[in-house]
Amino acid sequence: MTTLPIVEKPTFVEEDPLDLMDEIDALRKEKNAAILAHFYTDGEIQDIADFTGDSLKLARDAASITNPIIVFSGVHFMGESAKILSPEKTVLVPDLLAGCSLADSCNPHDLKAMQDQLRAEGRDIVTVAYINTTAATKSLCDWIVTSGNAREIIDRVPKDKEILFVPDQHLGRYLQEVTGRKMILWPGSCMVHEMFSKQDLIRAKKNNPESIIMAHPECPQNILEICDFIGGTEKMRQYVVSLKEPQRFLVATEVAMIHALKKIAPQHEYIPVPGIFADTGETCACNRCPHMARNTLQKIRDCLRDGKPEIEWKPYFADAKDVLERSLLK
Ligand code: SF4
Repeated sequence: MTTLPIVEKPTFVEEDPLDLMDEIDALRKEKNAAILAHFYTDGEIQDIADFTGDSLKLARDAASITNPIIVFSGVHFMGESAKILSPEKTVLVPDLLAGCSLADSCNPHDLKAMQDQLRAEGRDIVTVAYINTTAATKSLCDWIVTSGNAREIIDRVPKDKEILFVPDQHLGRYLQEVTGRKMILWPGSCMVHEMFSKQDLIRAKKNNPESIIMAHPECPQNILEICDFIGGTEKMRQYVVSLKEPQRFLVATEVAMIHALKKIAPQHEYIPVPGIFADTGETCACNRCPHMARNTLQKIRDCLRDGKPEIEWKPYFADAKDVLERSLLK
């Protein structure tokens, strides 16, 4: 009988967050790097970042700062947008595998096939993409929108054109309502915002009758129709700041957003809305984006120290640059 060698289990050593923060601070100064963090990353990452925001604000920050190195703590398409708008800068990301279910739901081959089919049918289409798309998909689009500028951009599309809106069907449906423009909707969605349970939200509201329900427009229609306030992350921040008297909010978006809300308007109480798994019906206490959760202090330290992983320039970034600049910077 052959004896199998004994393989020792690798031990994972958790490093002290305070030591990591000190190391990150020293490396950022030494390399003249700026750390950008999305509101959906952990609170401790938002706290050490030089800039925090939604994808629109961070894309604009990336284009305007002078630091030669950017560490983008968010998901892959955000790092791509930073590189596209600042090709001369080194854009590092803590984890190249931090993707996005919404961006993945609209791959460029399928989009091109749909555009070709619609044009072959004689339909005069303009493709409007939510910013949560890959650079390859952006390169096939006419306009890029965020939840903050979507209305203004859609108003710019001539009335005699049909709009193909990708990839978020829920945001698209919401925009149809607020702009009055009929659109062809791509059937994509975000795995986090898709999970909110209407039943649990109604129960939470019953338990907190005086509360204000606040939801991201990426949520399905059945959630949006019972909300008191609908807005993207920046709009949510502006709204809570505008209310001086303490309020209780039921928040239907990624749970890390509550850190950003507490920071800017600590007078209020924020309760995360529970999620539910559509296939099993089980509730999930934490509406956490698994892609955003791949960002950690340790990985930020490592990428600053090692100068990788890096977002490399790809040939299709040039087309994506034209549409991003036209949509977000002008
Ligand atoms: S929260 Fe949704 S849209 Fe945002 S990065 Fe995660 S999967 Fe993508």
